[in-house]
Amino acid sequence: MSTQSKYLIIGAGIHGLSTAYHLALDLKAKGLGSGADITVVDKTSIAAGASGIACGVIRNNYFQPAMRELMAHSVDVWESDAQAYSYHPVGYMQISPEVMHADVATIAAQQKDIGYESAFIEGQQDCMTYMRGIFDDWQAQQITSVLHEKRGGYANNRPSMFGLAAKAENEGVTIRSGITVTGIETESGSGGACKRVLTSGKPIEFDYLVIAVGPWIRQFWQYLEQPLTITVKDNAGVDHPNVPMWRYLSLQEGTLGVDPDVLKTNAGVMPPVVHVDSDAPLLSTVDGSLITEEMWGIYYKPDFNFGGVQGGAAPDWIETAVDDVAIDPYGHESPDYVMGTEFAHIWVSSLAHCQKRFEGTLPKYKDEPSGGIGCLAPDSFPIFDVFRENCYVIADSNHGYKMIGVGKLVAEEVLGTRKSLLEPFRFARYATGELHPVSNSPFPWS
Ligand SMILES: Cc1cc2nc3c(=O)[nH]c(=O)nc-3n(C[C@H](O)[C@H](O)[C@H](O)COP(=O)(O)OP(=O)(O)OC[C@H]3O[C@@H](n4cnc5c(N)ncnc54)[C@H](O)[C@@H]3O)c2cc1C
Repeated sequence: MSTQSKYLIIGAGIHGLSTAYHLALDLKAKGLGSGADITVVDKTSIAAGASGIACGVIRNNYFQPAMRELMAHSVDVWESDAQAYSYHPVGYMQISPEVMHADVATIAAQQKDIGYESAFIEGQQDCMTYMRGIFDDWQAQQITSVLHEKRGGYANNRPSMFGLAAKAENEGVTIRSGITVTGIETESGSGGACKRVLTSGKPIEFDYLVIAVGPWIRQFWQYLEQPLTITVKDNAGVDHPNVPMWRYLSLQEGTLGVDPDVLKTNAGVMPPVVHVDSDAPLLSTVDGSLITEEMWGIYYKPDFNFGGVQGGAAPDWIETAVDDVAIDPYGHESPDYVMGTEFAHIWVSSLAHCQKRFEGTLPKYKDEPSGGIGCLAPDSFPIFDVFRENCYVIADSNHGYKMIGVGKLVAEEVLGTRKSLLEPFRFARYATGELHPVSNSPFPWS
């Protein structure tokens, strides 16, 4: 015995829920149905994956033009219902050393072209003056450009997911927790369109399937019988065979247990999200010893949801063979991928490098599990594409919390309208060599 849902969505994170909500709206607007035609299943619950532990930063700052255009679209969606999405439109700052100056200048220029409001400050002295106008204790060294995005900011991870889920449910969408999908079957047994999923309960039949399972994509890629290694043609036209399809990354994040008000600006208001990349020597805030002379990067924001100043540092690639990476238990419950004392020391020392108010605050670092893992495609950028005729895969390479608008675009594609914003993210780009440009940032997702 099977159950049935016209549209079945696997995963109740940002992508699954946004797709469900916007698909419900589109079905109704077009007279094709309603949210009652849509079921979301999740093996655990709403916000059980990466969306529920994300730092929540929402920015436009990407070196890749296609990413910037997509993010501008998503910021429109965050702004459309800031209250339900628990969205704080405080803005965002990319603060960079000379090695990144030219890259960030192109971002600033292209933000002007697409009408995304930002200020761009250049030169060491002007950057220091600008930053001291916001924080009187600013002291980061060797900074030669500041890109201050006036839109974006951050949202509170779990509240935003429950806000989105409520909007979907109000449109008639059913969200079922505790249903694990264990396989995908096709009509004829192999190849062709997908027909039903096997689950921990009854199989579920559908007309159209959306897979939005974040870090668990590795398993679903196998269910879809897709290749575990591929040939990637680079931008120079050179083929690289046997590239692993997926890699895992450990995100380094944590919280300093201080009153979030500590980070108010000189004007007494909540500041933009601060992201600093630097090639200045990083010294320990404990004993002044050298931590690194290599490029480093951090981001941070005051956040009442996390209860302090929360943020992170450049992530680490997980060297374990991809099939052996333990995804479950996920997030803060993972015995393998939560932050330890080394991260705390580096991150708080970096905060102190930037602002005097953080000097000597390492003892206030919150000793609680933080961080989590993400799954990335070969070029570290998303794949949004249809497989097997009726199966839409949203694999966002860990850029995704901010991408609330992707579900809106995917909903339109599911109903037959191709969206130009999603075209640069098709799977075929690895074969054709139409890859996104690579920046000089120490972060693989910039
Ligand atoms: C620590 C951390 C911080 C981050 N910070 C940011 C940030 O500041 N800004 C940003 O833009 N991005 C951030 N990201 C990335 C972002 O969180 C993810 O890209 C995004 O949340 C992925 O959303 P999703 O809906 O695809 O997947 P998820 O939110 O992971 O949801 C997938 C869901 O699928 C369910 N599922 C999995 N397998 C099955 C199955 N077999 N059957 C049924 N259900 C299943 C899971 O239970 C889960 O609930 C961060 C990621 C991490 C780990």
